[in-house]
Amino acid sequence: MTLEQEIQKRRTFGIIAHPDAGKTTLTEKLLLFGGAIQTAGAVKSNKIDVGTRSDWMEIEKQRGISVATSVMGFDYKDLKINILDTPGHEDFAEDTYRTLTAVDSVIMVIDCVKGVEKQTEKLMEVCRMRNTPVLCFINKLDREGRDAFDLLDEIEEKLDIKVRPMSWPIGMGKSLRGVYNLFENNLNLYEPSKTKKVTDVVEIKGIDDPALEQHLPQSSVKELREEIELVNGVYDPFDTQQYLDGKVAPVFFGSAVNNFGVRELLDCFIQIAPPPVPRETEERQILPEEKKFSGFIFKIHANMDPKHRNRIAFARICSGVFKRGSNYYHVRQEKPFRFSNATAFMAQQKETVDEAFPGDIIGLYDTGNLKIGDTLTEGEKGLYKGIPSFSPELFREVINLDAMKAKQLEKGLNQLMDEGVAQLFTFEMGSRKVVGTVGALQFEVLQHRLLNEYNAKARFDAVSIYKACWISAEDDAKLDAFVKDKYRHIAKDKEGKLVFMAESKAWLQMVQDNFPDIQFHNISEF
Ligand code: GDP
Repeated sequence: MTLEQEIQKRRTFGIIAHPDAGKTTLTEKLLLFGGAIQTAGAVKSNKIDVGTRSDWMEIEKQRGISVATSVMGFDYKDLKINILDTPGHEDFAEDTYRTLTAVDSVIMVIDCVKGVEKQTEKLMEVCRMRNTPVLCFINKLDREGRDAFDLLDEIEEKLDIKVRPMSWPIGMGKSLRGVYNLFENNLNLYEPSKTKKVTDVVEIKGIDDPALEQHLPQSSVKELREEIELVNGVYDPFDTQQYLDGKVAPVFFGSAVNNFGVRELLDCFIQIAPPPVPRETEERQILPEEKKFSGFIFKIHANMDPKHRNRIAFARICSGVFKRGSNYYHVRQEKPFRFSNATAFMAQQKETVDEAFPGDIIGLYDTGNLKIGDTLTEGEKGLYKGIPSFSPELFREVINLDAMKAKQLEKGLNQLMDEGVAQLFTFEMGSRKVVGTVGALQFEVLQHRLLNEYNAKARFDAVSIYKACWISAEDDAKLDAFVKDKYRHIAKDKEGKLVFMAESKAWLQMVQDNFPDIQFHNISEF
């Protein structure tokens, strides 16, 4: 097969949802369609159970599970599909944001009872940054959910994206009778607890086909026809280009746990979802079909077994062919590296890969040379763009508790930051180190891992910091003046970029008003 054919075969997407919406269940059903797994229950949830917060072994076990389910590949109708799983727990949101940089599209799961939830809104913001195409699956139709039109309105409003229903529910909860597939113009009747792999689909000739009445009660048919008329009146016809541009989200309805409405989603997905797309480096746009290999690291996972202190770096291949044992250029370190040990991820198992193509995710064993955002190429010098850090939500100061172990602490902090566990900010004044995280759980993870893996004892003390804002200005002199004026509140991130550490919302607003020539950014890339 040619490189071009390999590329056209691939669909790499992320599956995102607010916890409990049904992400794990849907993933499992998708894998069942692909024949990648045989039984239900084979996919483990990567949820971190809040109840087990203080139980370290449990959290580590759960982290282990999330490695196993990080990437799941399967074949379906001649395509190679890669699903990237994302942690649902909001404390690990940063992990999810980074994973989204490695996908070409997204499937978003929404619970029809709860509608659009907080985490979904945040995730959508990240998708919008790169205009990632989004397909929605409204789940749990077997429950008494909200009105379909209301749900669609809420998506448009809260997620700021136009929608286009591609299937339509016939009843809901106890009265759920099926879904009408607007994309294929057929009818899928609902029987609870379907275990079959392929659902029974009734072929009909459009919504006016009298055959509908053989399958549904008259009242349902009447209501369905009215609703479909309304749908076609309210929503523009589906336009694939608008979807690919991230302007409109096609929406499917179903029930993942009953494997209902999932095939419709998958069959539409493989027709409309984009194959690997071109990506930007600092120097230029790189097309997937370019002959020379390139890729970037978007996730690093440490081996939790202290006896084997290696890490797995997850790389997304962007162009050319990755060949095991080849030398590749490490753009940040400006030197070649050889990767003799690359792993591919298929559902349930890891296997050694000899070759991998754009869209594929490979695991590289690493002993500390790689970090998130690193780019590997066959000579190309620019780093891939688009893996920003987001301003953390919580900040604490690192206090070393053992003066003899300062080196260990520094090394541990650096390596854990490379893995993306948290972000480190070093103040210009007094070299105070402040760690920023998305959730409180990371401080526990840090403290535990520093001690167990680096033999470093540290405490994390509260500090009054509200936000870290990366700063820039058109005029360097103005930036210098600002840094001088506010030197007590200026820190540098791990890349050495200047950050303004604001103590409160009101104060940040005031400073912004007083310094109109300084730009304040919530993310590290602007
Ligand atoms: P995740 O946190 O998004 O991965 O959610 P899970 O897939 O673990 O699902 C959360 C809960 O919702 C589980 O108890 C599932 O069995 C349940 N669930 C998933 N899909 C459906 C569905 O279609 N209907 C109903 N009633 N429950 C569902």
